[in-house]
Amino acid sequence: MKKDFYEILGISKNADAAEIKKAYRKNALQYHPDKNPGDKSAEDKFKLAAEAYEVLSDPQKKAKYDQYGHQAFDGSGGFGGGGHGGMNMDDIFSQFGDIFGGGFGGFGGGGGGGARRAKGSNLRIKVKLTLEEIANGVEKKVKVKRKVQAPGVTYKTCSTCNGQGQVMRVTNTILGRMQSASTCPTCSGSGQILDKKPSEADSQGMILEDETVSIKIPAGVVDGMQLKVSNKGNDAPGNSIPGDLIVAIEELEHEFLKREGENLHYDLYISFAEAVLGISKDIEAINGKVRIKLEEGIQSGKILRLKGKGIPSINGYGNGDLLVHVNVWTPKTLNKEQKQFFEKNLSDDNFIPNPEKSDKSFFEKVKDMFS
Ligand SMILES: [Zn+2]
Repeated sequence: MKKDFYEILGISKNADAAEIKKAYRKNALQYHPDKNPGDKSAEDKFKLAAEAYEVLSDPQKKAKYDQYGHQAFDGSGGFGGGGHGGMNMDDIFSQFGDIFGGGFGGFGGGGGGGARRAKGSNLRIKVKLTLEEIANGVEKKVKVKRKVQAPGVTYKTCSTCNGQGQVMRVTNTILGRMQSASTCPTCSGSGQILDKKPSEADSQGMILEDETVSIKIPAGVVDGMQLKVSNKGNDAPGNSIPGDLIVAIEELEHEFLKREGENLHYDLYISFAEAVLGISKDIEAINGKVRIKLEEGIQSGKILRLKGKGIPSINGYGNGDLLVHVNVWTPKTLNKEQKQFFEKNLSDDNFIPNPEKSDKSFFEKVKDMFS
């Protein structure tokens, strides 16, 4: 079970932006790798705090997190190598480096000797999904333009850092004098520089290549959720590993169905006569039509719950329901005979509203739905 982001930062759910930033800064300084050399648990806490801050400092992500929790960002099981969508040290410093007040450059010490393999940048795409695709899961093929090493390109060891990818420097920070490692300016951290390249390659020996990437999207994803396909981002020069392809989910509006978490809502309109006499109706459900029977004398505002006809939970814990809202359509004009018929019944006891206890009011029904 993943720890709550608010708990990680030691703040309440009502904390404002300034408190969140302050709490992150405190955590980051306490667990900074340069202050805790070789301490793996400090490094983990440092990463967790950054992950928490990345979400809570972004109003949109924060809203999603408050509503859906970790599942809004974790990607999913079985996705491109899975893992939790954690951040690596380079991400942290490139995104939040300034929060440390300029004292810290890059990340030192972590690799345990030898050059770390540089990682290429991430690519981001948006994938639009219909509600049907979301309900059933889908495999999407997308075209991406990735930077890859040109055929025939060669690299040699960088002489500035001797292939380490980092250079050491001493800085004065609010925490005192610190020795920190920063990314080598000559090779950008890869430890290697260009040796020979074909003419069509850029100054780093890279070319753009079209690639079709197949993305397995699990059932139950939510609009705004981001999935990660490992190593399908841009490659970097030298002995490096490619960045990731980040896939943002966009949900297309459905013609008849409204989604609310895992439940779906459908507005059914029936005539006054149908309500009085009872009728069978076809409902547009997510995977085709479903026939439902309306009892004679059904009341407008009644909500019928079709169990399991909603959206599957992304965690695999069953399906939501389809809630059919019954609306009785009142004719706006009547001809003379119809008018006479209803006028005759105005004083008929049988037509006078007489709700029973079981005919819950709209507000009670809404209350029930969320309890
Ligand atoms: Zn270098």
